[in-house]
Amino acid sequence: MNMKSIEILSSKLSNMIAAGEVIERPSSVIKELVENSLDAKSTRIEIHVRDAGRTYMEVIDNGEGMSKENLELSILRHATSKIKDEQDLFRIKTLGFRGEALPSIASVSLLMIASSTGDVGYTLTPTDHGHQLVPSSARKGTQIIVKDLFYNTPARLKYLKNDYIEASQCIEVVTKFALAYPNVAFHFTLDEKVIFTTSGQGELLAVIQTIFGFDVATKMEPIMIDHPDFKVKGYLGLPELAKSHRYHMYTFVNGRMVYMPKINQALVEAYQPYLPPVRFPFFVLDLSIEPSLLDVNVHPAKREIRFSKEEVLKTILFTEVSQLLNNTNLTPMITKDLSTFQGATMLSESNHTDDVEQLSLEFSPLHDALSLTVVGQLQALYIAASDHYGGIYLIDQHAAHERVNYEKNLMSVKQNRHKIEPLTPFLLKVSPSLKKRMTEEVLQQLEQVGVTIIPFGPDSYKLETIPLWVLDKQDPVFYVEHLLEQIFEQNKLDEDTLRLYAIASKSCKTSIKANDYLSLPEMQQLVDDLLKCDHPYTCPHGRPTMIQWSKASLEKLFNRSGF
Ligand code: ADP
Ligand code: MG
Repeated sequence: MNMKSIEILSSKLSNMIAAGEVIERPSSVIKELVENSLDAKSTRIEIHVRDAGRTYMEVIDNGEGMSKENLELSILRHATSKIKDEQDLFRIKTLGFRGEALPSIASVSLLMIASSTGDVGYTLTPTDHGHQLVPSSARKGTQIIVKDLFYNTPARLKYLKNDYIEASQCIEVVTKFALAYPNVAFHFTLDEKVIFTTSGQGELLAVIQTIFGFDVATKMEPIMIDHPDFKVKGYLGLPELAKSHRYHMYTFVNGRMVYMPKINQALVEAYQPYLPPVRFPFFVLDLSIEPSLLDVNVHPAKREIRFSKEEVLKTILFTEVSQLLNNTNLTPMITKDLSTFQGATMLSESNHTDDVEQLSLEFSPLHDALSLTVVGQLQALYIAASDHYGGIYLIDQHAAHERVNYEKNLMSVKQNRHKIEPLTPFLLKVSPSLKKRMTEEVLQQLEQVGVTIIPFGPDSYKLETIPLWVLDKQDPVFYVEHLLEQIFEQNKLDEDTLRLYAIASKSCKTSIKANDYLSLPEMQQLVDDLLKCDHPYTCPHGRPTMIQWSKASLEKLFNRSGF
């Protein structure tokens, strides 16, 4: 018999195995090292990355540092200074606690750690059979250099994506830390170019401005929720900042970057009326939750988290964000742009900055209070109107009509679950590779939303049944293609988004266009209908329906202030 005996793995080997879970790619090293710096109460952290992290990563902090003994222990598996007993595991306040990161990194790279608690300092270099320790700088804090990641695990190395992707992952990680810790100054370079330097002065909006620019920072609204079990602080981006991807939805829990799909979904739903389909909001939310209500020990890389009151949080967030968006006047105000708008030249003699601030604070009526009197049409395209506060408005007649139609259509298809057999046959053509992927499971998913398809010839399917509402709103074949795309690309069917999308395009097609001359009563009717909408300020694709000049901004522009 060729039975192999059971042996305890060498520590080197078991560390390499653990590294497989904790250290997936360069950005995971950055994440673990910065977490350690934060746990060590650093107020300044430098991060230097070269070659997308493949050959060189360095993190320098001004934290507590390590004594000689702790430095030697730090690279041993399950050595941590952060928890001591089982009770600690249920009230974790630090970012690390598993004692796995440094030994894992040491096992798959060439590592160097220099650290000092402020008196003497040491530099430690792990070797194959232990480590080397030499005295070094006494500057309080820790410096860690990681060279040639995965040099000894070729399979891992092969699995890395191209430099562009790996580098963006690193940027993403450092960005998240900078947003989650406005009190810490981050200095981040990539191939010796400065990506950003934050001040560490504690202002989240200032960090947003440093990283995303002034323009973005002026389009953020603060949000604050105080609940006995959690606190929420942060900024919500105006709908115009929406992205076609989900990466700008930043949610932190007690300073930990975690993936909370339900929480993100609550926000996506709250933004939905203001966004075109398949667009995602930009927001930064910092949640503080009592640690005993959380289980952070769910995932080796600590990416997921369990929160016992997640449903409550979700509902409150949805309500608050909806309210905030509803109460924010989303009409692009000419006043807000005065600094870059031509009006700036007229303002330049007075104290510029003050004027802009003062102007953006001025009164603008919310739509509950707004009623508009139409005065005429311009270029067969815009409706000119005025409000009762001396403001004037230009309304895009097509966008306005689209919004009105959209909300009408929405009522008509909501909850409409009838399906029918179309009288004229609809054929869905599929490529051979797509045909292979049309498993029983896929067909069942389609059935669930009222779509039955049956094979029809070698490269087609016939649409047996489709939802009734589709017939009226969209090309049924197009609709089924969209469903399949969702199933294959996103791994989940989101019928609501498709409904909204279909209604939006239908509303667009049936709306009055530019170059349609309208009578005054027709225009007044349209504007009245628009103001009755739930979301009058944007068309279903997210474009503005109207722009506004307030009384004060007009006075400024005509230099009438002070009269
Ligand atoms: P964990 O963070 O889960 O405790 P790590 O392997 O990441 O495990 O780190 C091991 C230990 O090394 C930490 O518990 C901490 O005591 C020490 N350490 C690591 N990095 C630093 C640092 N930048 N400053 C001070 N101490 C550090
Ligand atoms: Mg750690």
